[in-house]
Amino acid sequence: MTKSILTKKILYWYDKNKRSLPWRKKFSQVKREYYTLVSEFMLQQTQVATVIPYFNNFIKDIPDIRSLSKIKEHKLIKYWEGLGYYSRVRNLKKTAQILEKNFKGRLPSTIEELKLLPGIGNYTANAIMAIGFNKPFIPLDGNIERVIKRLLNLKLSKEITKENLIKNKKILGTSIRASDYAQALMELGAMICRPKNPLCHQCPLIKNCKSFKKKDFEIIKERKKKIDRFYLLEVYRKNDQFLLIKNTKFNFLKNLKIFPMKQISKPDNLEKALNFKISNMNMNIMIRFSKIKGAIPNSSWIDSSKLDSYTLPTFTKKIFSYLGKK
Ligand code: SF4
Repeated sequence: MTKSILTKKILYWYDKNKRSLPWRKKFSQVKREYYTLVSEFMLQQTQVATVIPYFNNFIKDIPDIRSLSKIKEHKLIKYWEGLGYYSRVRNLKKTAQILEKNFKGRLPSTIEELKLLPGIGNYTANAIMAIGFNKPFIPLDGNIERVIKRLLNLKLSKEITKENLIKNKKILGTSIRASDYAQALMELGAMICRPKNPLCHQCPLIKNCKSFKKKDFEIIKERKKKIDRFYLLEVYRKNDQFLLIKNTKFNFLKNLKIFPMKQISKPDNLEKALNFKISNMNMNIMIRFSKIKGAIPNSSWIDSSKLDSYTLPTFTKKIFSYLGKK
């Protein structure tokens, strides 16, 4: 089976089965670039189904790179509320400002220049090159990685490293319909070559697939260790009011409202800690109820009976919900 036949089979399947997604419609090149940029930032840590309403809302009110570059941060964050990983939206705005200043409000069309923009790593740069500019790049997301692992039945730890998967993506070939092809591969992984119970009998690659031949669909993931961190979180309360601070200290949830907290060493009574996972961190949070002594910089009182009227990260809302259960 040549690569070009494989490519044709995948595109044929895609043309018949693709989902209608708001960033996949036919647009002018300027809109295509902007919509690819926004959707790829949103999709970096979030599932397609969750992203769709956020994307529609975002582009309705922030229709282009210029308006994104100018929007006030507190307004912008509202459009991201609930998606989490807020550094993405801040980087998105910084990128828009650079594009306005240095690229006449357009995206650069080389991978090297794209990778210099805030929030655009190797994966997103490859996705923008393929989807936004129809260039023969294949962004290696979790879905495409799974298709490659299953096609070649890659299981050993040396076979499933990122470097080895990048080498092996050559088996997928390329197409002059590069934008469709990248999306077709992602779609195939998401809809057919699913993590559990792959739908092999609907898959265009069934005859080429080593995992199907072996009836072995187990996916081995490269182990990435999460870092354990320990924090002491202070709760200051006046009736229904709780004191929050604007976070300028930690790299996560930057500039968002959080309860005052500091990093501590591993406590003895760790079993009492609340656990959160943020980025590559296992957060273990000890909660202490404290009395206010003097002014706390960057702080404000939040009425816990009107939480919906504030822009708060999910992390802070979860702490409120924990306190509500106490
Ligand atoms: S045949 Fe099955 S396991 Fe192989 S690529 Fe297709 S869906 Fe995945």
